Amino acid sequence: MNSKNILVVGAGFSGAIIARQLAENGYKIRVIDSRNHIAGNCYSERDKRSGVMVHTYGPHIFHTDNEEVWEYLNQHAEMMPYVNRVKATTKERVYSLPINLHTINQFFNKTLSPDEAKKFILEKGQADIVNPETFEEQALKFVGKELYEAFFKTYTIKQWGLNPSELPASILKRLPIRFNYDDNYFNHKYQGMPKDGYTPIVESILNHINIETSLNVVFDKNEIEAYDHIFYSGPLDAFYEHQFGRLGYRTLDFEKFHYSGDYQGCAVMNYCDEKEEYTRITEHKYFAPWETHTESVCYKEFSRSCTEKDIPYYPIRQVGEMEMLYKYLELAEKENKITFVGRLGTYRYLDMDVTISEALKTSRVFLECCETKNKMPAFTVSVR
Ligand code: FAD
Ligand code: UDP
Repeated sequence: MNSKNILVVGAGFSGAIIARQLAENGYKIRVIDSRNHIAGNCYSERDKRSGVMVHTYGPHIFHTDNEEVWEYLNQHAEMMPYVNRVKATTKERVYSLPINLHTINQFFNKTLSPDEAKKFILEKGQADIVNPETFEEQALKFVGKELYEAFFKTYTIKQWGLNPSELPASILKRLPIRFNYDDNYFNHKYQGMPKDGYTPIVESILNHINIETSLNVVFDKNEIEAYDHIFYSGPLDAFYEHQFGRLGYRTLDFEKFHYSGDYQGCAVMNYCDEKEEYTRITEHKYFAPWETHTESVCYKEFSRSCTEKDIPYYPIRQVGEMEMLYKYLELAEKENKITFVGRLGTYRYLDMDVTISEALKTSRVFLECCETKNKMPAFTVSVR
């Protein structure tokens, strides 16, 4: 048994994986979470009325190219085949996303072949935009004004509360454009849904004799002295009592409703027009196509600016915020026994596979530092 006293703040994927990797190496770990459940934002549970597995903090689809991550996940879950196919309602018609040959042909009322569509969209795109820096420039360059305005402009304003001309091009780069009829929302080699939801995965990860998990416990900075090292997956600015201000986040409000039968016929329907205030409706029984449910449960998703009372969901990382972020990073980098991890600790939008991969890396770095007696860094990944 290693005598080091270690605290992990947060029982989401980041905290749970770090705890497990160190526990397997003989460390005793205390994991705390301020919520009354484990699994962080990936938490899922069965809806009592319909029996449907719901993703309480928004829909989570697992997808990755990372073999190590896929293998790790499969040690703790039975993953079921699942392909995310998203539909979008715009201008009173329904289309398929990401933009693919079907979307293009339907939208422009054409019967183009892949090569014809490529040429057609190239002509629509604004070639004079050379180095697209903003979301808007990226969209105008690659799909042109009509598709941009129908699918991206209003949805993005609803999602981010900002005009696409104020957002980085990287947000749009997450979505592919395809000149065939492939409507898989993701390009990754592995994609799937856990048969019993995400919560049992984290439960299995935390299930180790060297791990003690306490819920409803908020991290108290006065306890730092009691530990040899702390892994912190809470918000970076909260750790420093927001002394330089609050880093910007978007939060989500969910309006839950039941429906007898089949409400929309798919898991995710995006709403790209102004007339609906919500961005999308998710019908959760469609995330588990291997199950049968007559009763359905859906969530309307509204995005808005995050206040101090809300759950921070999406880090905005606007240019103005980066200066504030750098001040926090400078403070953090001076810490001797705190490592900041995960979505909130590093203030970055991280998919689950990246979260898992970074948590595995952080554990490896810690074990190496203990072995070589080097200082464990405040960050094990690039955060600037
Ligand atoms: P979290 O899950 O946020 O866990 C952090 C934990 O720390 C929380 O439980 C919190 O309560 C706790 N905590 C914070 N502060 C304190 C404190 N002071 N004291 C005690 N505890 C504290 N990824 C995908 O791969 N596919 C998807 O489809 C997908 N969809 C998403 C949809 C939405 C709406 C959102 C917001 C995210 C989505 N993600 C998706 C990303 C995924 O949620 C994250 O990758 C993952 O949750 C990050 O895990 P984490 O442990 O870093 O953070
Ligand atoms: N987006 C859009 N219309 C859509 C879907 C996505 O404008 O119908 C934009 C939006 O700005 C979103 C970004 O593309 O934030 C990336 O899409 P993704 O589905 O990855 O968003 P997520 O909800 O997962 O952040």
